[in-house]
Amino acid sequence: MGNMISLSEPVLGEPEKDALARVIDSGWLTMGQRVREFETAFAEIHDVEDAVAVSSCTAGLHLILEALGIGPGDEVLVPSLTFVATVNAVLYAGATPVFVDIESDKIPHISLKAAEDKCTERTRAVIVMHYGGYLVDITKWRSFADRQNLYFIEDAAHAPGGKGVGLSSHAAAFSFFTNKNMTTAEGGMVVSQDSDVIKRIRSMRSHGMTSLTLDRYKGHAYSYDVTTLGYNYRIDELRAAMGLVQLARLSEWNRKRRELTHVYRTFLKDLCPGVTVPFDDEWPTTAHLMPILLPGDIKRTDIMDKLRAAGIQSSIHYPPVHGFSYHKKRFPNVILPETESYCDRIITLPLHPALGRNDVEYVVTRLNRALG
Ligand SMILES: *Cc1c(COP(=O)(O)O)cnc(C)c1O
Repeated sequence: MGNMISLSEPVLGEPEKDALARVIDSGWLTMGQRVREFETAFAEIHDVEDAVAVSSCTAGLHLILEALGIGPGDEVLVPSLTFVATVNAVLYAGATPVFVDIESDKIPHISLKAAEDKCTERTRAVIVMHYGGYLVDITKWRSFADRQNLYFIEDAAHAPGGKGVGLSSHAAAFSFFTNKNMTTAEGGMVVSQDSDVIKRIRSMRSHGMTSLTLDRYKGHAYSYDVTTLGYNYRIDELRAAMGLVQLARLSEWNRKRRELTHVYRTFLKDLCPGVTVPFDDEWPTTAHLMPILLPGDIKRTDIMDKLRAAGIQSSIHYPPVHGFSYHKKRFPNVILPETESYCDRIITLPLHPALGRNDVEYVVTRLNRALG
C-alpha cells in the first residue's frame, strides 16, 4: 500500500507461516485438535468456562440468539452505531431489532435510559457493543437485563482480551476478521459461562451433527444423528493454528494500542483543540479504533480527502445501521438524534500496533493543517 499510513494492519510474520505450514504437513485441515486448543486458550485468557470457535463473529451472534431460543415475535435491543452484522444477526434469527440511541458524544454506547424506554412485553434480549474497544459497563447492563428479565449478549468484535468481557453476560461473540485486534483472516469465537449454551452452539455450528468428520476418520464413530437445525459455521485447523499464534501476542498488542491512543489524545489536545475524543484516557479499553469527532461546521469529506493526500487513511465507524436503505425500508421512522449527530461528525484515524509515536504525531499535524 505504498507509504500510506493505513487505518489498520494485521501483524503477520514467520510464526504464522510456520504454524500454517505445520497444519499443511499434518495432512488434516478441517476442524480438529487445533481448533479445540484455540478454544481452550481463548477461554483461559478471558477467565470463562468455555469457548466455541466459529467461522465469523456474525455467525457467532446468530448462533447465540438461536441457542437462547430467540426468534419470530421477539424484540432485541441493539445499537445503530455498530457494524451491520450486530443487527443482521437478529434478522437471521427472525426476531425484530429495536434500535437504541447512544448515551452521548462522550459515551457513544447505547443508553440505559433509552433502552429502558424501548422495553415492551416482547423484549427478550439486549446486545451491547464494545465500541472501538471501550468496554461497556458490564455490571450495570447485567443488572438491567436481570431487572427486565432479558438475555444480555455482548458483541465483542472490538474487544478480544478485554477485562471482564464474557464474564457476566449470557454470551459474547468476538471477531478475527483481518482488521480486528487479532486475526485468523476470517473467524470468530463465542464464549459463555453457561455450559448448555456452549453445548448448543457447538452442535449448531456443524449442522447439529452428533459426531465430527475427525471422529469418523479416526474410527471413533461410524455414523451420526442430526438433533437440531444447524449450520456450517465451522472454523478450520489453519485458522485455529494462526489464532493460537496471534492470541499469544494479543495483550502486548492491546497495550501498544492503548499507548498510541494516549499519544493521540495528548497531541490532539495540543494541536486540534476543536476536536473531541470520545471516552477518556482512564476508560478500560482494548483500543480497537481511534475515533474523533470533528467540529460541527467542518465538511468531513474535505478533511478525509486532505488526509488521504497526505498519505493517511481514515474511515467512518459507523454509518448508522438504521440509515441503510435496506434497514430503513424494513424499519422506517427510526429517529436517534444522538447517534445521527455522532455519525455525521465521526472520523477514525489510523491505529494498529505497527505505528510509532512519530506516525501519530504526523497524523495529528496533518489533521491540524487540514482543519485550517
Ligand atoms: C467486524 C464486526 C462484526 C463482524 O465480524 P465478522 O467476524 O466479520 O463476522 C460484528 N460486529 C462488529 C461491531 C464488528 O466490528
